Amino acid sequence: MRADARSRTLKPEQNGRTLVMKFGGTSVGAPQAMRQTVQIICDTRRSWPRLVVVTSALSEVTNLLLESALAAEKGDAFVIEPARLKMKQIHTDVAVELIADAPQRQRLLEEIERLLDEFSSLCRAISVLGEATPRALDAVGSLGERMAIRLLAEAVREVGVSAEAVEATRLIVTDETFQNAHPDFEATRSKTRQVLEPLLEQGSVPIVTGFIAAAASGTTTTLGRGGSDYSAGILAAALPAEQVWIWTDVDGVMSADPRIVPEARTIPQLTYREIAELAYYGTKVLHPKTIRPVVEAGIGLYICNTFNPSHPGTHLVDNGANERNGKIKAVTAIHRQRLITIEGRGMLGVPGVAARAFTAVALTGTSVPMITQASSEQSICFAVPDESAEQVIAALNAAFRFELEKRDIDRIWATEQVVIVTVVGVGMIRTPGISGRVFSALGAQKVNVIAIAQGSSEVSISLVVDAQDGVKAVQTLHTLIMSPEPER
Ligand code: ADP
Ligand code: ASP
Ligand code: MG
Repeated sequence: MRADARSRTLKPEQNGRTLVMKFGGTSVGAPQAMRQTVQIICDTRRSWPRLVVVTSALSEVTNLLLESALAAEKGDAFVIEPARLKMKQIHTDVAVELIADAPQRQRLLEEIERLLDEFSSLCRAISVLGEATPRALDAVGSLGERMAIRLLAEAVREVGVSAEAVEATRLIVTDETFQNAHPDFEATRSKTRQVLEPLLEQGSVPIVTGFIAAAASGTTTTLGRGGSDYSAGILAAALPAEQVWIWTDVDGVMSADPRIVPEARTIPQLTYREIAELAYYGTKVLHPKTIRPVVEAGIGLYICNTFNPSHPGTHLVDNGANERNGKIKAVTAIHRQRLITIEGRGMLGVPGVAARAFTAVALTGTSVPMITQASSEQSICFAVPDESAEQVIAALNAAFRFELEKRDIDRIWATEQVVIVTVVGVGMIRTPGISGRVFSALGAQKVNVIAIAQGSSEVSISLVVDAQDGVKAVQTLHTLIMSPEPER
């Protein structure tokens, strides 16, 4: 076993400390995967008796739930029944394989049926109203994790380990920003301890819903797509836990998305700043919000592979040792973006253009992943998701109506779809020649770089390329990462 894998086990002086393990959708999405997850829980509990498990919905279930709600909003109520049947099938397949005790299995399937009834009636209500509010979408979206905890807890009990399904609506308190709720850490801390401590004291494993929470009023909220990682971070900070292990379907954080670059390699150690940058710029393996509560509480964070549990995975650390020689460690991409440009020679004389522009954008609820200087002309240029571009342009045209009339601003426009490609590595920017190598490599492959954002963070360089060049850019930069460093 390598050093990282060893440090994941409990040292004698850590006795009495708590571990939070989070399992993603693929880790529980099929009978064999769930079997593997149950095995990991059993094995780990021997060295970590105080163990909290957070689970996502079974893979595809959250998509089915939300797509059905959105279809119901458009009046396509006929999608509800097939989606319900499919979700029933996914859960039944796992239950049949993992839960031999017939009465227990029956009781579990009845509970799942009850949650599916809730799904049908929520979708019918949405279809009648013709409106799926963010609040209603959270009520529907929460059902996947609510079914998952019941199934996983039963499967764990089946192998003789005491486990209890816990809905995080009892633990995590948030504001009412439905679909992207912000936790109230103070309130969450006391509720989490109040509910989980007695279970841990009894030696039971709490199996907690990822993704979902509740406002102070008790209304269900969610933490945003992919938010189960964040749930694990929040609960770990609240307990507090000693470590968090995120179990997924790849060998930790890799030098690129292995689906795009099959030869990508695991990065054994990565600093929080590097993973934060990767997660922010599109690396799905960890939700970007997970990092802050974990870092602030000084908790160890690991990413491991459910399907290859002896692999050491990635250890996320506060400060990388021996990281003075900045190297590019990974490349990531955000697809389906558009660059918005506000331009005009008269802009210099217009007060607060940037502040007004970003306020107008913020009012549309759009987040801006990147701000860049596109050219030497007077202009402001930034990226927004493709689906928000039209709304953002309309908001900016309204905000700068007078400036446009007076020709202080000449035009506000959006490019075609682009991809933001980001290379990440601590100390990279201070290392001479790195940007040069990045641009030469892209140039040699005839990838045209439309815009650059460098220096916003010391650990990354982002560049924008045409949509059709996105994959080529990622693959080219990955080849650069793997190629030997030039002599310095
Ligand atoms: P989970 O359901 O376990 O939360 P996700 O699908 O959210 O899993 O994240 C894991 C996926 O992230 C992987 O299957 C992989 O395709 C993708 N991914 C993208 N970039 C990377 C990367 N650099 N390293 C590892 N995985 C990555
Ligand atoms: N099930 C939720 C989603 O699909 C949360 C998660 O998987 O992290 O977004
Ligand atoms: Mg995820």
